[in-house]
Amino acid sequence: MVHQINEAHLNASVRVPWLVPLVVDNVRMAHGREPSPGPPIGRQYDLGVPTTTSDLYAIPPDLADLRDTIRQLARERIAPRAADIDRAAAYPHDIRQLLAAHDILALPFEPEYGGTGTGTLMLQMAVEEIAKACASSALILMVQELGTLPIQLFGTEEQKQHWLPRCASGEWSPAFALSEPEAGSDPAALRTTAVLSEAGDEWVINGQKNWITNAGIADFYVVFAKTDRENNRSSAFIVEADREGVDPGQLEHKLGIKGSPTGSPSFTDVRVPPENIIGPVGKGLSVALATLERTRLGAAAQAVGIAQGATDYAAQYARERIAFGRPINELQGVQFKLADMETRTAAARELLYKACAKADRNERDLGKYSSMAKLFASDTAMAVTIEAIQVLGGYGYVNDYPVERMMRDAKITQIYEGTNEIQRVVIARSMK
Ligand SMILES: Cc1cc2nc3c(=O)[nH]c(=O)nc-3n(C[C@H](O)[C@H](O)[C@H](O)COP(=O)(O)OP(=O)(O)OC[C@H]3O[C@@H](n4cnc5c(N)ncnc54)[C@H](O)[C@@H]3O)c2cc1C
Repeated sequence: MVHQINEAHLNASVRVPWLVPLVVDNVRMAHGREPSPGPPIGRQYDLGVPTTTSDLYAIPPDLADLRDTIRQLARERIAPRAADIDRAAAYPHDIRQLLAAHDILALPFEPEYGGTGTGTLMLQMAVEEIAKACASSALILMVQELGTLPIQLFGTEEQKQHWLPRCASGEWSPAFALSEPEAGSDPAALRTTAVLSEAGDEWVINGQKNWITNAGIADFYVVFAKTDRENNRSSAFIVEADREGVDPGQLEHKLGIKGSPTGSPSFTDVRVPPENIIGPVGKGLSVALATLERTRLGAAAQAVGIAQGATDYAAQYARERIAFGRPINELQGVQFKLADMETRTAAARELLYKACAKADRNERDLGKYSSMAKLFASDTAMAVTIEAIQVLGGYGYVNDYPVERMMRDAKITQIYEGTNEIQRVVIARSMK
């Protein structure tokens, strides 16, 4: 494996101090003082210690350097492949190898399992940079997190040692198999079952999943199955793709993210040992929800990347396209569109990064923030890509130009990792 990211990046166990609203309290604690509730409204803060806001709202330099490396890689090696990947609707094995060779697939993992240990913000900045060039390629990295986070969060040490390092290296890729034909937004309605064999030494899984990213590519599936029908309780299982009874099923023909295979794997009398259960028996739904609370940041990052990619392309086009004898970016109507696109995308990014920092700090309102980031970023990606097509006029509507692909790719970010209606339900629930 070629290690092109410099050692400092890989060794930097950066626990993102970005956007630290608690910086004041941190400073106080560093000086041996207790945090205070703050002054009454209308009075000046008297911190009694030197403080600065210069490091707020800035990406730590180590992470910014790594992001720039990934940005360059995406621009030079991934962007030129994006149109072909879309046209061929085939999984880009070469891009997976590229990401693995540069240790980008190691970003979701801790160092003890072969990862970079660089945290959530770094991971999602990488997703954003790749999605700017090619949303399908970004999914390769996103699924590396989605399919392994149940193990990272709830797995045994043996499971982590066995499954994570080879995902971090890119040798293996997982799939997260929760959704079913009758259970999407309502995962508690899933029908796949897992029952203990008569001898009690194996679980026997039967059922049909739907919309599973990486179907046919995955080396293993994290399958959610009902283990107690009476009390409607499910459990999460690791199912190797080559186990007897696993059928990857047919792939879907999709509107966008065409380079990412989506299928309906079925499981017929698939026998797995108890060691393959992730977390406690009966706690599958908790495993799924805790995973999605974090991985929907990936969908948000993908959306921010798509929006920025479309904005950058439209701005460049508007510099060069002549109408009425001058570049269209001198027309105020076009300028206003571009300004709104840039502003909305920047706002989405801020919300995303704040949610990432909350994930890295394990803050209690992470769920609300990851839902807000996903909701806002995906709606932004949709609106911005539609406007990008408008800026290009007729050229925006044909696949010689990338913005129609970006619009088709943007749509999924409003649907998967929980639809945006479900995000609103989560946010509203947190406000009660
Ligand atoms: C390309 C693609 C890749 C995917 N990858 C994966 C994957 O890897 N793993 C996986 O497990 N799943 C995956 N999914 C599934 C995805 O998460 C679901 O499609 C999504 O959760 C919605 O479920 P559904 O399609 O059954 O829609 P439904 O749940 O049937 O929803 C239909 C409509 O009703 C609305 N609705 C439902 N409930 C409510 C409510 N309470 N309040 C308001 N509105 C509501 C929804 O927002 C939606 O508009 C993928 C889907 C796609 C299309």
